[in-house]
Amino acid sequence: MRNQMAQKCYNTNMKASIITIGDEILLGQILDTNSCYLARELARVGAETIEMRSVADTHAAILHAVEETFLSSDVVLVTGGLGPTKDDITKQTLADYFHTTLERNAQAEEWLQLLLAAQPERLKNPYNESQVFLPRCCVPLRNRKGTASGMWFEKDGKILVSLPGVPFETETIFPQEVLPRLKAKFTSLNVRYKMLTVYQVPESDIAQRLEKFEKSLPNGISLAYLPSPGFVRLRLTAKTNPDDLPILFEQLKKEISDFSFLENTSEKNEENIALRLRAAGKKIACAESCSGGNIAHLITSVAGSSAYFLGGVVAYANEVKTAVLGVRPEDLKQYGAVSQTVACQMAQGVRRLTGADYAVSTTGIAGPDGGTAEKPVGTIYIGVSGPNGTTAKKYWFAHTRERNIGRASVQALVDLLAEIEKK
Ligand code: ATP
Ligand code: MG
Repeated sequence: MRNQMAQKCYNTNMKASIITIGDEILLGQILDTNSCYLARELARVGAETIEMRSVADTHAAILHAVEETFLSSDVVLVTGGLGPTKDDITKQTLADYFHTTLERNAQAEEWLQLLLAAQPERLKNPYNESQVFLPRCCVPLRNRKGTASGMWFEKDGKILVSLPGVPFETETIFPQEVLPRLKAKFTSLNVRYKMLTVYQVPESDIAQRLEKFEKSLPNGISLAYLPSPGFVRLRLTAKTNPDDLPILFEQLKKEISDFSFLENTSEKNEENIALRLRAAGKKIACAESCSGGNIAHLITSVAGSSAYFLGGVVAYANEVKTAVLGVRPEDLKQYGAVSQTVACQMAQGVRRLTGADYAVSTTGIAGPDGGTAEKPVGTIYIGVSGPNGTTAKKYWFAHTRERNIGRASVQALVDLLAEIEKK
């Protein structure tokens, strides 16, 4: 193989294609999350993914996909089929494509020994031996989470990277071994966008506020609005001049300084809550009726949540609302369980019970039954209690039961975050 690119660097935009290999994907048995992960990571550094395709575990399908994608891309990323079993034919197919053979790779062998020393239970697997055979012309990429090394190939000025199918292995090798090499080749790769999330302000109000700012943006820098229920993520992207990005981002923050917003936010509000609470050293709790524990589940899905989550009460029956949370029976009778008053008392109750700084509550009609003309299915009150007092808002989601519960839970996290962020 010609290794003519070894020392060259490119300052052009990098075009990539992603090929995922596996019958399981084509049979709809698994979701192709590897493409999503790789495309997102590439976009983060300004590389353009121009194609994704999934192909069967056959020699012909893999060869055809590699040949075609190489025509239009600088880099082809391939995942899957690196295992030691018979259906894993990616290594042999790539060896054929690059007109070479498989041979014992000393580097891969050393890594395998290190892995086996750390995880001796893997020793029993007789297939491991075959993992150290790699196509002669590849540069092996260390896999710290599994026995299959990744592989880096170069041919006619193009790059092909082969990664394991197992997502957490690919997600380990890509940032550790692939991205630094790509950055060394394509000097144009750099972080190209900054994000922040604005809470509880409608997209149109934000757009109005930022009209002048948007018009003043230089060519190659653009602002995108990514709205979700209760919050809007703003992405400032630099296509051509990334050096301007930090200054413009500061300007953007100034323009919306009176709105509630968070920087460097995740798409997941439970992760944003984690960041905020950890920084502030505050604690939370929840009291759930219609969301049935889903809010507690979301909060505790974040590793380390015990640092700020005290607990939750699933108060489904009125008796539990009164006996555990201290909701007043006369208010339950007068306003009903699905009411602003009860939502407020639930949030206050669990806050009192746990000593949390902030608490959130839900009470509503998830459906499909139980709705009335006054309170149709999907009517949900979300209460928030904190040092600034207690409030509850009424929402109407009007979806299926599952979606109503999901929406109520996300909205509850958004309302809680807005309360924590209150200026
Ligand atoms: P192994 O050594 O486990 O055989 P491999 O590199 O040969 O790994 P595959 O056999 O193709 O990879 O896939 C292993 C597992 O990884 C699959 O059963 C599937 O659960 C997951 N997987 C494979 N490809 C993808 C993908 N594109 N997106 C998400 N998960 C995937
Ligand atoms: Mg496999």
